[in-house]
Amino acid sequence: MGTLYIVATPIGNLEDITIRAIRMLHKVDVIFCEDTRVTQRLCKRYDIHTLLKSLHARTEYKKMAEVLTILKDGKDVAYVSDAGTPLISDPGAQLVREAIEAGVRVETIPGASAVTAALSIAGLYTNEFTFFGFLPHKKGRQTLLKEIKDMKRTAVVYESTHRVVKLLQELQDIGVDRMVCIARELTKIHEEVLRGTPKELQEILTTDTQKQKGEFVVLVAGL
Ligand code: SAM
Repeated sequence: MGTLYIVATPIGNLEDITIRAIRMLHKVDVIFCEDTRVTQRLCKRYDIHTLLKSLHARTEYKKMAEVLTILKDGKDVAYVSDAGTPLISDPGAQLVREAIEAGVRVETIPGASAVTAALSIAGLYTNEFTFFGFLPHKKGRQTLLKEIKDMKRTAVVYESTHRVVKLLQELQDIGVDRMVCIARELTKIHEEVLRGTPKELQEILTTDTQKQKGEFVVLVAGL
């Protein structure tokens, strides 16, 4: 039986990958990835020529049998998502579950994740935090926003470029006027960390709309 390696990849800067991750991506028989074009760029940078196959959220269930057959054949498989740590607001959970059930050895090759990268520079309390991932767009959103409002721990939310201003408005609407940190484009050319109340941050982002572009982690200080 082969081993399934869950491998973290960079969240922007391609240098943010571990030596072990590069070695494993060279060594395994197959790399399953979310998008072969994205992972191809990483492989090119590190001269990795391992066979790439796609396994994304929509195909995770269908591809499971293929992955398990390869593993049962005694071959090693790596799974990577487009960026950061697989399973963290990314596919892979079902794959890991089924592999464990099938008696496959599953190993982590840890590395970058936007949640820990943002926490490490936010300047907020980090001994305890709650990670919400992406908030649902409709059903359940208000309940989670209310939970964040009343929370003693730091709240960490992933947000897309179109919705960050909306989130800041929603935080104001429910009466959050504590410190919020927006970590944008971490490890990339336009990396930026903004700190302030939701109202202050909304003003900054609407005055300079360039600041609304890219990928965001929003952190809300606990009570
Ligand atoms: N698996 C990834 C991880 O370990 O962080 C997360 C993947 S999730 C599909 C993508 C979201 O993560 C983005 O919308 C953003 O909220 C956050 N993110 C990823 N890269 C980022 C970066 N370089 N700077 C800020 N946020 C980032």
